[in-house]
Amino acid sequence: MAYKAGVDRKQQMLFPETVDEYVSGDNPVRFIDAFVAKLDMSKLGFERAVPAREGTPGYDPRDLLKLFIYGYLNRMRSSRRLERETHRNVEVIWLVGRLRPDHKTIAEFRRKHVKALKQVSKEFVLLCRKLDLFSAQMVFVDGSKLRAVNSKDRNFTVPKLRVLLARIEANIEQYLAAVEAQDAQEKEQPGATDPGLQEKLKAFQERKQEYEGYLKHLQESGESQVSLTDADSRLMKSQGDMKVCFNAQIAVDAKHHLIVADDVTNEVNDERQLAPMAMAAKEALGVEALEVAADAGYHVGTQVVECEANGITPYAPKPKSSSKNQAAGLYTKEAFTYSAERDEYLCPAGQKLGLSTQTVVKGRKLSYYANWPACAGCPLRAQCTTSEQGRRIMRTPEEARLEAMADRLKERPELMLQRKSSVEHPFGTMKWTWDGYYFLMRGLNKVRGEFSLMTLAYNLRRVLSLLGVECLLEALRTGKMPVPQPI
Ligand code: SF4
Repeated sequence: MAYKAGVDRKQQMLFPETVDEYVSGDNPVRFIDAFVAKLDMSKLGFERAVPAREGTPGYDPRDLLKLFIYGYLNRMRSSRRLERETHRNVEVIWLVGRLRPDHKTIAEFRRKHVKALKQVSKEFVLLCRKLDLFSAQMVFVDGSKLRAVNSKDRNFTVPKLRVLLARIEANIEQYLAAVEAQDAQEKEQPGATDPGLQEKLKAFQERKQEYEGYLKHLQESGESQVSLTDADSRLMKSQGDMKVCFNAQIAVDAKHHLIVADDVTNEVNDERQLAPMAMAAKEALGVEALEVAADAGYHVGTQVVECEANGITPYAPKPKSSSKNQAAGLYTKEAFTYSAERDEYLCPAGQKLGLSTQTVVKGRKLSYYANWPACAGCPLRAQCTTSEQGRRIMRTPEEARLEAMADRLKERPELMLQRKSSVEHPFGTMKWTWDGYYFLMRGLNKVRGEFSLMTLAYNLRRVLSLLGVECLLEALRTGKMPVPQPI
C-alpha cells in the first residue's frame, strides 16, 4: 500500500496560494492581529505610531508588537529566535506580512517600549473587564522570584565582601612573603625568579581595591548589596536557595483566574506588596470595594491598615511564629488573650497583664503589657520567660486590625485553598511550562515591561481557551460581548 504523498516542492502552482489560506479562522494570530489593530498606539506611548513624512520608512510598531505578543504566547522570547521565526514560521509570516526585521530592531523595540508594553497588557485586562470575565469582588495576590541577568558571583553583600577581603589579604601576605624569599634567592642565584609571582600579587591587590570600593559604596549608600551586571537585581531566597532575582507580583481574579495586575520589585520579600497590588487590582477592575487574600508572607499590620483605608478587605494568615520564645520552648504570644474592653492581656496562669510602658519606633507607638509582681511567684514561670523581671507582651498599633483579620479568616477557611489553586497556577505556567523563570532584560523598569508581556500572554492564552478565537474576534468587532459562554 502506498503512503499519502505531499506536494512536490518543485511543482509549479497554477494559481498561487495566499498566505491567508495557511492560517485557519480560529488561529490565535487572527485575534492578535485584530487586537493590536484596535489599539491607540500613540496614546499607549509607542514611537512612530504615525509614520514619518520623510526619510526611510521604518517598521510599524504594530507589526513589532504583534511579533512580541506572538512570541511570548509561544515561548519565544529572544529577539534572535523571533527574527528566525519571521523567515520560517507561516503564522508569523501571516501576522507581520512577510516583514523580516533583524534581531537588533526587534530587541530595540522591546527595550524602548517597556512602559507602552505594560499599557498593552492593561488594555487586554480592560477588554476582559468589558467581557465580564472578572468577579471584581475577590483577588488573590502572590509573588515569585524570577532570575535576573546577574550571576551570583557578580553580587556582593557586606558579609560576603568581608570574607573575600579577609581571604585576599591572607593571599597577599603569602605572596609578599614569597616575593621577599624570591628576592633573597635572587641575590644568591641571579635569574632564579618566577616573573608570574609579581603579576599574581598585583592581581590580588587590584581585586582588593575593587572589593574595598564596593564595601565603601555599600557603607556610604546604606544599601545591603550591590549587583554588577544588573544593578537593580538583588540576592533573594528562591526555592530554598539564594539567587540574584527580581520579585514578580500578580493579583489574580477569583472568577477565571485571570491576572488583573502585575508588577516587579527588587524587594527581597513580600512584606510591602499587599496594599500596592490590591490597589492596582482595584483600579484595573474599576470597583469601589474589593477583597484580597494572600499568604502569610503578606501578613503585615501597616499593609492591612493601608488596604482598609482604600476600601479593600484583606485576608492573610498569621505566619507560624518563629520567635526566640518558641525556639526556647516558652509560651508564644498566642497563649496570651487580649481584652480590648479592659486593655489588658490574660496570661496562661490567669494573671492580668496591664499596660506598663509605651515607646515610639519609626513613628509607630509600641505598647508593652506586664505584671511582674505576679510573675515573681508564678508556678508557670519556667515555661513563660527567662527574664529576671518577668514576661512582657508587645502590642503594635495595627494589632487590633490583625486580630479582626484573623477572625474574618476563621469564618472563611476555604479562602486559603482557593488562593493556592488560583494564584499559584499562573506562576507555575509562566515560569516552568513557558520557561519564563528568568528575565532577558536588565533594570527594574525594563523587567516590569517584560513581565507585563508574560502576564499578557498568560491572560490571552487563558481567555482563548475560555471563549475561543471567533468569540473574541466578534467582541472586538462589535465592541461588546456576544453573550460569553465559557467553553
Ligand atoms: S510568668 Fe508571668 S506572664 Fe508568665 S504565666 Fe506566669 S504570671 Fe503569667
